Amino acid sequence: MDYQGVLEEVAAHAKPLVRQGKVADYIPALERVSPDRFGIALADINGDVYGVGDWEVPFSVQSVSKAFSLALVLAEGDQSIWERVGREPSGTPFNSLVQLEWEHGIPRNPFINAGALVVTDRLQTLTGDASTAMLDFLREESGNPDIGFDRAVAGSEADHGDRNAALAHFMASFGNLENPVPSVIEHYFWQCSIEMSCRDLATAGGFLARHGLRADGSRLLAARDAKRINAVMLTCGTYDAAGEFAYRVGLPAKSGVGGGIVAIVPGRCTLCVWSPGLDARGNSVAGAAALDHFTTLTGWSVF
Ligand code: GLU
Repeated sequence: MDYQGVLEEVAAHAKPLVRQGKVADYIPALERVSPDRFGIALADINGDVYGVGDWEVPFSVQSVSKAFSLALVLAEGDQSIWERVGREPSGTPFNSLVQLEWEHGIPRNPFINAGALVVTDRLQTLTGDASTAMLDFLREESGNPDIGFDRAVAGSEADHGDRNAALAHFMASFGNLENPVPSVIEHYFWQCSIEMSCRDLATAGGFLARHGLRADGSRLLAARDAKRINAVMLTCGTYDAAGEFAYRVGLPAKSGVGGGIVAIVPGRCTLCVWSPGLDARGNSVAGAAALDHFTTLTGWSVF
């Protein structure tokens, strides 16, 4: 497969759409990002990386981090997380409170905010410093020691964090947090503020295409856990539009409001696309179009 040629064709198809979306504006640090950015990277299972456009420009990973925090908890050998978070699509917005009440503080899946807060809480218990553990993990898996936090984003998240604080307090009232609410939400905000490029994210997500193995053949996750993460990404990874995303793209994926989407082609490669303009559900418009075109060109959806 001529990966570079395919990526160039995909970019030519999707880049004209960058202005159709709306850049996230709930915090100033994200609102300032140019809507004209577009990058796409592909890391094959041997670890070779290809890219087009702004593929080496760092951006705010936001909710893309949720796939990696779940992986890190499972890599620590912890299965008890599945007693505290479900794996069903929520059908409600990513920051919704309502479902938590009738499900007794158990979030529907690890990729809505409530679920990610529980995962961060578990990671805090396991490591003693969840956000530093995440940063170290992402540096290691991407091979890029320069990855860092964006302090302005982390600060803005905290300034606008009432909803996340409410989710955490509500779950704590059901006994579904192990650590104090302020520490859980602080680590969650730092985790969302990590900046990575498409190259970094495609490389870091390689273990999900390799059934849990790193590029050097060492095992990060059990194959069963990689399968499970991919399954939850397919059903819950793109906000409450995961059905539409599966219909169009047909790959496990995790998106974030920074405009990034990581997508997995099990057994073949990991992709990351970035374009900050979002649709009404929070998914990158040009990013989803790029992945749609990629699976149409290659025939590599999981279906
Ligand atoms: N930091 C954002 C929040 O918790 C994450 C948004 C996202 O990418 O879904 O509201």
